[in-house]
Amino acid sequence: MEKQELLYEGKAKKVYTTQDPKLLIVAYKDDATAFNGQKKGTIHGKGAINNRMTNLLMDRLEREGIPTHLVEELSGRETLVKKVSIIPVEVIVRNIAAGSFSKRYGVEEGVVFDAPTLEFSYKNDDLGDPLLNDDHALALGLASREELALIRKYSLNVNRLLREIWGACGITLVDFKVEFGRLEDGTIVLADEISPDTCRLWNSKTLERMDKDRFRRDLGGVEEAYVQVMNRLTGGL
Ligand code: ADP
Ligand code: UDP
Repeated sequence: MEKQELLYEGKAKKVYTTQDPKLLIVAYKDDATAFNGQKKGTIHGKGAINNRMTNLLMDRLEREGIPTHLVEELSGRETLVKKVSIIPVEVIVRNIAAGSFSKRYGVEEGVVFDAPTLEFSYKNDDLGDPLLNDDHALALGLASREELALIRKYSLNVNRLLREIWGACGITLVDFKVEFGRLEDGTIVLADEISPDTCRLWNSKTLERMDKDRFRRDLGGVEEAYVQVMNRLTGGL
């Protein structure tokens, strides 16, 4: 399968059409952005790591009963995926307070929740991805009540499985963001990516940050952290 036209260029990936109208090729870039695109930079080698890591994790999730868009990895940076119509809802699952949760509610980073907490935000860069509840998502016509319930169920299962996978590598899954989309027949599948760009990952022993927060907060050692997370995953899977 080969790339045809560039369908979309986002902040971290390019999406191409293929000869098959049901399939797309996603190409991962080294570009990094934060704070809704205000901070820009490059994380060398990130594209290849995020491509591989997303595929390893999605393959594992698929085998555990979560439908995903993954078809096959084509090369270091490129993957063939099922074309979906993305539901413009970012699903964030949190196990530990951090980032915008800590800021919004005045909770110190690192406070462990009794149970995972799930939140939705409206995937809309112009509006700054505002927080959404189920009723807001329904009012905006983003998804049906049944779809929201399924998305919630899948996301919590993804959290349970990812926590196990990362835990076995000595990494604590603090929080993450996932996106879902609809296939032509309406089936909901997990799409986009799962990587240190979209997850907060802390070294379980030292609590050292091993994800995009190193870039966001200018902590240094950004490339090294991505490589280390990848090595731990391939060693631990
Ligand atoms: P952004 O749009 O936030 O800048 P990216 O650079 O990651 O993000 O661009 C990838 C885009 O492709 C995202 O908007 C994402 O929702 C979309 N996408 C991911 N998987 C699929 C898929 N299987 N089919 C169609 N679009 C997808
Ligand atoms: N996240 C993401 N894309 C976004 C917003 C958040 O991948 O547009 C991820 C982020 O990497 C973190 C989790 O979702 O793992 C929760 O992010 P948070 O709401 O704390 O926002 P941030 O601190 O990134 O502004």
